[in-house]
Amino acid sequence: MLHIGCHLSSAKGYAHMGKEALSIGADTFQFFTRNPRGGSAKALDVSDMEALGALMAERHFAPIIAHAPYTLNACAADEGLRTFARETMADDLARLEYLPGNYYNFHPGSHVKQGAEAGIEKIAETLNAVLRPEQRTTVLLETMAGKGSEVGRTFEELRAIIDAVDLRDHLGVCLDTCHVWDGGYDIAGDLDGVLAEFDRVIGISRLKAIHLNDSMNPLGARKDRHAKIGEGHIGTAALSAVTRHPLLRGLPICLETPNDLSGYAAEIALLRSLDAD
Ligand code: FE
Ligand code: FE
Ligand code: ZN
Repeated sequence: MLHIGCHLSSAKGYAHMGKEALSIGADTFQFFTRNPRGGSAKALDVSDMEALGALMAERHFAPIIAHAPYTLNACAADEGLRTFARETMADDLARLEYLPGNYYNFHPGSHVKQGAEAGIEKIAETLNAVLRPEQRTTVLLETMAGKGSEVGRTFEELRAIIDAVDLRDHLGVCLDTCHVWDGGYDIAGDLDGVLAEFDRVIGISRLKAIHLNDSMNPLGARKDRHAKIGEGHIGTAALSAVTRHPLLRGLPICLETPNDLSGYAAEIALLRSLDAD
């Protein structure tokens, strides 16, 4: 079963996103938990979250992905910025308990001259501070393109973070096809090889979700510029192969391509039609 959706605006609330997803043929979706650049969150609306939960159950959605603001840096050198990251993540996770069983995805962070090792240590420290034994949300580390000093370009770095977290049963990985491609993993030429490498280093059971994007740049470019499906260097055939791979089937797949709603609907329809071939 192909579970596919896209990034949606949360401006009109949770239940609205669920209906919007259904209207474009999606059975999963992603949204920002709060202003992606700032940090302010809307007032908690439990009944709206419960309405989405009921709709998702009734219409057999796959888990959805709540995305942390991308300005948050869990490994910032500045302690105040790390506190902000920790408090934001803790608040997001507390809210997500009203929508249990879904995913919370975040960009591990940028070490900015501290070195990857120090970055990994601080990210794990942040996770150790926010994870709770009883939580029902799985936190996903996103694979990064490696632009600037981003931590999490290599599978080894992600594994090192996971290993340093006590409650790692609550951790998984979200593989972004544009990011791993830009990071140097050839998912177009050798998807089986990349997944074997993921399994060897991290363990394939940690892989919980996919961000499906084409890339404006060639393999290893470390840029992170998303392209529409088929309009980048990865290509439609390779991205369709991701959605059809036996190890990835069943995972929620979210498009983060530069599209409006009708563009997303068209890409979802395309990928579903290729899936049925
Ligand atoms: Fe992301
Ligand atoms: Fe992504
Ligand atoms: Zn990206």
